[in-house]
Amino acid sequence: MKIKFRCPTCLGAFLDNPVPTNNAILGVEIMLPLQNSAVYEYSCPNGHFMKVVLQNPKHELIFDSGISSLRKWYYREAITSFAVALERFYEYSIRVLLGSSVYELGEENWAKTWKAISKQSERQIGAFYLIYLTVVKQSAPIFDSSFLKSISIKLGIEGNDPVNFRNNVIHQGYIPTFEQAVNFGEAVNLYIKRLLKIYKNFDSAQDSPVSIIEASSTRLTNNSVKADVTGGMHIPTFISDITEDESPKGSSLVEYIQKHGTL
Ligand SMILES: [Zn+2]
Repeated sequence: MKIKFRCPTCLGAFLDNPVPTNNAILGVEIMLPLQNSAVYEYSCPNGHFMKVVLQNPKHELIFDSGISSLRKWYYREAITSFAVALERFYEYSIRVLLGSSVYELGEENWAKTWKAISKQSERQIGAFYLIYLTVVKQSAPIFDSSFLKSISIKLGIEGNDPVNFRNNVIHQGYIPTFEQAVNFGEAVNLYIKRLLKIYKNFDSAQDSPVSIIEASSTRLTNNSVKADVTGGMHIPTFISDITEDESPKGSSLVEYIQKHGTL
């Protein structure tokens, strides 16, 4: 997957003199591959150097990477990305639900505690369930066959358990069909969006500890401290948590794939 960056200097020059043959237009867009660090360093064709922080939460970027794989016929890779996007979303959720407590407890304490659970996704899911129960005062929705039944998603396997399905694909080399990959991605998509809706309702309530904005900006803050950045950027993704209702690309992965197809 590639991300489109712009050179503000060249863009400014182009807007001042919008002639298509102007050399400045060559530097307006720069495509870079998705990377682990949120800090992207690049020079435009006209020699302007930039360090830009990509502010999107990681689950959004990894989910989009899954869509890219799906459209390029890499179904196993798509399912891996969708499953990892869900795991990163649990981490994101923990930060959202803890809200300002993360800052009050101190980044050092947070980092030490997170390190203890960071290598095992099952520990993170356990932490998520308990923090969700404490903050929302209800049991968290669980990503299981009952959830899939509630959204009428069928994976075409016995028991219809999405976790077993994921494990079969990732650990046992099961080769899924296009339909299975789309349906698994749709299940992850709808699960994440169901929770984001709950967080947003909490976010708008007074004295709520839930803050999506704070959780989103954490990635920016951490990286900004380490790098002398020249700017920040937030790209539209399939699972956007910034827009009010639905992501810019629509809310259903099945519909999106039906509309845009494979590449
Ligand atoms: Zn430039």
